[in-house]
Amino acid sequence: MSSVTIIESPEEMFRWTRQQQANQKVVGLVPTMGALHEGHLSLAKAARQHCDRVVVTIFVNPTQFGPHEDFERYPRNLSADVELLEALGVDCVFAPSVEAMYPEGSTTSVAPPSVAKPLEGECRPGHFEGVCTVVLKLFQIIPADLACFGQKDFQQALVIQHMARDLNVGTRIQICPTLREPDGLAMSSRNAYLKEADRERALCLSRALRRVGVELSRGVRSPVQIEQAMKSELSPYVDQLDYAVVVDPETLECPPSIAGPVVGLIAVHVGGTRLIDNSVYSVTGESTYPI
Ligand code: AMP
Repeated sequence: MSSVTIIESPEEMFRWTRQQQANQKVVGLVPTMGALHEGHLSLAKAARQHCDRVVVTIFVNPTQFGPHEDFERYPRNLSADVELLEALGVDCVFAPSVEAMYPEGSTTSVAPPSVAKPLEGECRPGHFEGVCTVVLKLFQIIPADLACFGQKDFQQALVIQHMARDLNVGTRIQICPTLREPDGLAMSSRNAYLKEADRERALCLSRALRRVGVELSRGVRSPVQIEQAMKSELSPYVDQLDYAVVVDPETLECPPSIAGPVVGLIAVHVGGTRLIDNSVYSVTGESTYPI
């Protein structure tokens, strides 16, 4: 018998959370779209460290996918996900249907903060509106004490931090480091799409991010020059380069010259799969964490 409580109804999920809190339990929340990997599990472990009860949500949110994106083929495997979470000692899995989250007639959405405008905001119109709306709904359904998000989705983490601050969300937001495969590829549910040759090509993302650190350590302070170096690492291997930039980690604006911490952000397409990655650096090129 499963020791994880599986809940599909938003109302029941709210009651469960409030019940735990009435019993003085600190509740942690980890929102995911499932197809879980070690990166997701690391968020659940981080939540476990600080909380008495951990809820992982599994919901492939249709409103954050564009019309020509991979919503239909996004990997789904609830039973395998639940097994992994059970082994980790997660207390509750919230896995609602699309109809439960968006009942007929639900038309309200959240206008994202200004940090949602560049980069992913330009490449994926409507994406952050979908993300903000579903995450705010999850905060309402599960008014947790702490919620963990991954630095892997750097701009998303920033957008959620801004939204939570601007809309007085009571849940504390924690950003956790990106887990990588031994060869440097950032773990992602979308890596399952990569054929063997694409998997090899995809290593150019982590190479380009290492190159940023090298350029900074050599004293290069021009974002344009560093972006050219990133592109030279990426272009031979990718089918489409959406962006490769070095920007201020708080504003996502490009400084005229690098004088403080920066984040390198990459989005590319490899063999029909869109991949993103990032790393934060001190001015002298050491990778730093957290954001
Ligand atoms: P997703 O299921 O892709 O929506 O991701 C759910 C959460 O897991 C988000 O907060 C992601 O940033 C985080 N996440 C995804 N990949 C990784 C990774 N490789 N390391 C750490 N966290 C991750």
